[in-house]
Amino acid sequence: LVSRKRRQEDTVVTIGNVRFGGGAPVVVAGPCSVENERQMELVGQGLQQQGIQVMRGGAYKPRTSPYDFQGLGEEGLKLLRKTSDRYGMLAISEIVSPSDVEMALDYVDVIQIGARNMQNFELLKVVGAVKKPVLLKRGLSATIEEFLYAAEYIMSRGNDQVILCERGIRTYEKATRNTLDISAVPILKQESHLPVLVDITHSTGRKDIMEPIARAALAVGADGIMVEVHPEPSVALSDAKQQLNIPQFETLMNALRNAKYLP
Ligand code: PEP
Ligand code: MN
Repeated sequence: LVSRKRRQEDTVVTIGNVRFGGGAPVVVAGPCSVENERQMELVGQGLQQQGIQVMRGGAYKPRTSPYDFQGLGEEGLKLLRKTSDRYGMLAISEIVSPSDVEMALDYVDVIQIGARNMQNFELLKVVGAVKKPVLLKRGLSATIEEFLYAAEYIMSRGNDQVILCERGIRTYEKATRNTLDISAVPILKQESHLPVLVDITHSTGRKDIMEPIARAALAVGADGIMVEVHPEPSVALSDAKQQLNIPQFETLMNALRNAKYLP
């Protein structure tokens, strides 16, 4: 079902007036984690000023250490919904448990399946059975074929609103947090009809190369980018080192618009 052989035209995931895969790239931005009302308010203002249409924010955080901030759960989803409604944006958030999917439908416009859950097949089946777009991230060590099979799990249950997201893979290279597999983008576009985003934040873990990486992603045909933005990254409860502050995000957006990578 994911294959370009089955369907020649690009799938466009349309939500309101936002089109994933419909031509103009979509920028998904927002904090790693939803933390509190003030943080969300500040980031909402910053994103709105840049014309951002889709806001991200994690409420269930799959952290490497059990002692790290685990997210606000349903309270976080409520706060994300409230902020995205106030600023007229769509909301996207990661769900990690099959039993939370139903509840999350009330709060999010797109369900995110994180890299660590790309092969959580029971979760994939559950999100495959709902009528809500799903953004599926590539697993940390998943091949492109495994990634597409994970998308197939979702589509095989009836949900054809799937957006793929390349977020970097594990290699021996330590200069970046992950290694962005840039060639995955044209390959995914060639082999499947689904929209493809690139997470420029988690793939690199480095703020100093956001702009060239964003340009590279859009140049090879990505349908959009995901980027983490926090009003005060140094005190963020997760991914403090890699999130852009609002002025840095503005600089990135201006650079991409000036270079005609974004309208
Ligand atoms: C995220 O986008 O919040 C996240 C945890 O990313 P990934 O699943 O790609 O590691
Ligand atoms: Mn993060």
